[in-house]
Amino acid sequence: MTFSKAVPVAVFLMVSCVWAQPVVHLKVGAAGARPARMLPPHGRGTHFLLRFPTEPGPEMLRELERRGMRVLQYVPDAALMVASPATPDLEGLPVLSADALEASSKISPLLADQVTGALLVVFYPDVDMARVREETSARGFDVLENAGLLPGQLVVSGAYSALGALAECDDVAYIMPASPELAAGIPLAGCAGAATVAGPVGEYVLVSSGWPKDAGGNVALHYFIRSLTAKMDAATAQSEIERALREWTLYANFTLSPSEEQGDARTLDILFASGAHGDGYPFDGPGGVLAHTFYPAPPNPEPIAGDLHLDADEPWSSGGNVDLYSVALHEAGHALGLGHSDRPGAVMYPYYKQATGLTDDDIAGIRALYGSNVAATPTPPPNPAPIPAPTPTPVPTPTPAPTPTPTPAPTPAPPSSPDTTAPSLQIQAPGLTITSTTASAIAVSGVASDNVAVTAVKWTNSTGDAGVAAGTTSWSANIPLLVGTNAITVRAYDAAGNSAWRALTVVRR
Ligand code: ZN
Ligand code: CA
Ligand code: ZN
Repeated sequence: MTFSKAVPVAVFLMVSCVWAQPVVHLKVGAAGARPARMLPPHGRGTHFLLRFPTEPGPEMLRELERRGMRVLQYVPDAALMVASPATPDLEGLPVLSADALEASSKISPLLADQVTGALLVVFYPDVDMARVREETSARGFDVLENAGLLPGQLVVSGAYSALGALAECDDVAYIMPASPELAAGIPLAGCAGAATVAGPVGEYVLVSSGWPKDAGGNVALHYFIRSLTAKMDAATAQSEIERALREWTLYANFTLSPSEEQGDARTLDILFASGAHGDGYPFDGPGGVLAHTFYPAPPNPEPIAGDLHLDADEPWSSGGNVDLYSVALHEAGHALGLGHSDRPGAVMYPYYKQATGLTDDDIAGIRALYGSNVAATPTPPPNPAPIPAPTPTPVPTPTPAPTPTPTPAPTPAPPSSPDTTAPSLQIQAPGLTITSTTASAIAVSGVASDNVAVTAVKWTNSTGDAGVAAGTTSWSANIPLLVGTNAITVRAYDAAGNSAWRALTVVRR
């Protein structure tokens, strides 16, 4: 088998021919869709995506480190993101191409449909955060401070017309929508990304293969709980983990059943561990990383494939700040082969939120891997035992001052009468939904419509303030601001209680 450096590789077309090269799976665009290039493609950069003809093993990782490169991330299939201060010395290595990520591959596809809102900027893990803050503000973006961010990430606001310039920065790995909680400065725990034996997977990666089918055409998986946490009653901890696993099986075509022993193939071994525990991903004590999970085989070898590790030093509970069900639900998605979702609110968004079940985005993700089981289960059963969690109130009340507890994003109220059509709502001024000012108030106005009638337009600010706008179909409000981030939500209601909302973030300097 030979591999020509001149053959372009299609990213989205998994061409099944015997000589197919490994495909690089990115969320956007096409590393490899152009002819593979060799160095030096970009004189300035220090981050390079190295593509190999076959999966690079531990010897290759060691050899790259020996040549002064730092291996940062694994990119399926058979590629590594490395940092190299000098032009990498690849002499004699089986490297198909060495190139920077295209700027277009670093911008979430969701941002094509969204024109305003705070952004989560993910940098490569080796960057100097003081420098990237300077780079970010030099391109006109304001940093919205959030104490809970993962290392190498920033929440920013700014003009979307400058997104391309930000993505051109060598230090930037990916740009995606920030969730309303992150934009409002609410610290959430984040997931550092799913793990492989060749390194973690970056946010720009699209992991698009789950567990392969067995000889009978089925995906029959197992789980084995090796240890539980002393922080919780054992029966509760076990049932919370099993409830999280079961939630995924409700929607897609695979099975997950208890295993008799640990370390079997196609088995999710689940354990709590403290500090270093032998897999190259040591835990960090209370706070920081809560858990990590190894992807299926491939890309990971057995028996570690699918294993789910939880940090024993966290204050695990059911329904508390470190909610076992919510974290296990997210991590189980990785164990089944899902990467992170760019969609704020999804269980697979990189920051955990207290969850009561999967969202449409998560369900679409798992069905893309295994197909829908909807024929076998015509009516998806409800969640077996929903845990107490903050739920959105259908009628607005002044929000309390921000607390460190994650709160759900506002959602339209459930239908409460034959009129189930929600109003539509637009904010027309200010023109950007992320804006900054030195003023003590901001004039916000817009339009709303409904199939019956808009009865009220109300606003809340994360500062604790709330009020009713003047007018309905054409409305306006003068909203007081406190210094810092003001996360404002405007809602339009009809008489039946249906509502629509729009968010606005105003940074007062
Ligand atoms: Zn994750
Ligand atoms: Ca931790
Ligand atoms: Zn581990």
